[in-house]
Amino acid sequence: MATEVQTTNINTPAWVVHKAKEDFKLEEITLDEMQDHELLIEMLYSGICHTDIVFQTGALNICPYPACLGHEGAGIVRAIGSNANRPDLKIGDKVLLSINYCKECKFCKDDHPADCIHGTRLHLTGVRPDGTTAAKLKGTDTSVSFHFFGQSSFAKWSFVQEMCCVKVPEGVKDEDIPFLAAMGCGYQTGAGTVENILKPEPDSSIVIFGLGTVGLTALMAAKYMGVKRIIGVDIFDHKMPLAKELGATDTINSKSVDDIVKHIKDLTDGGVDYAVDCTGVPAVIENMLNMLAMRGTAATVGVPPTGAKINIDPLVFLLGSRGYKGCREGDSNPPVYIPHLCRLQRDGKFPVEKLCRVYDYKDIEQALHDLHDGKVTKPVIKW
Ligand SMILES: [Zn+2]
Ligand SMILES: [Zn+2]
Repeated sequence: MATEVQTTNINTPAWVVHKAKEDFKLEEITLDEMQDHELLIEMLYSGICHTDIVFQTGALNICPYPACLGHEGAGIVRAIGSNANRPDLKIGDKVLLSINYCKECKFCKDDHPADCIHGTRLHLTGVRPDGTTAAKLKGTDTSVSFHFFGQSSFAKWSFVQEMCCVKVPEGVKDEDIPFLAAMGCGYQTGAGTVENILKPEPDSSIVIFGLGTVGLTALMAAKYMGVKRIIGVDIFDHKMPLAKELGATDTINSKSVDDIVKHIKDLTDGGVDYAVDCTGVPAVIENMLNMLAMRGTAATVGVPPTGAKINIDPLVFLLGSRGYKGCREGDSNPPVYIPHLCRLQRDGKFPVEKLCRVYDYKDIEQALHDLHDGKVTKPVIKW
């Protein structure tokens, strides 16, 4: 095993949720033993994603408490397991952490790892692929759900699954790494939905509902792809200036118009070519589907409530040759797509740094408050 540091009984600070809806609590946890297909990563930064909050509140209750979450990590490789199939990585490399996947199912083999049939189990259940967790509260027998998205980046040190690690490409400056931490989830989801799934033509129109991290990175992708008409919609006026700065040709507060469907149809000569919903609100999704142009396609990215239903008139869909797609993680193949997005950021075409604010790891509660209050789009903690 290629190691320079110990890989057993590692004590590390970690933000732990003890019960649904309880605040994150800073704890010391102990990681028992690195497995041979894992890498020991010293976390430098972690983005905070809405999915972390979903699991903190217990809205999706499949990861037992206590749990250490976090899935937008950026860090340094400190040890590489002897069976980790990562000849491209060496100790000391900086990595961005993304989704985990099995490499074996038909979707993984077909370069769609975001649709891995084992994705839910590998990401959300708080255990390794073999069902174990490495983490206990220090000095106790209390197991902690860990390995969230294969990484649990709300701990300073982590045993990370081999497929999660994406090497930071050449030419990326160290000072930009905090702004790139969220490549592995939020950014690839937004940009990938537009670039990999919808593929809008320059002479087309697109509307994006919900101007958080995912919506704004979708907007940036539409901009760097040269889309002529880019419409951003939200219910908060304070989100509009940044959307404009990032390339929106129009911004609309949907609370300030009587009929958003008619309003956007009027703006786009009868219907919009592409649409992305990042809100997950069923009424917004229905409106989105009703404003599509002939051959228009809409994408669902925001997570709706479990069991939510929408009404679609299939005849209108047929006569309009319309499409409606579900999209996970922007259909990203992280080892290829994340370096591509990093290069766009370096060249000023994907300015995700404008979304970020960096907080000391001890200030995670402040970061969560600022996110809730709309004072920051992408909070990033610094370990
Ligand atoms: Zn798979
Ligand atoms: Zn996420």
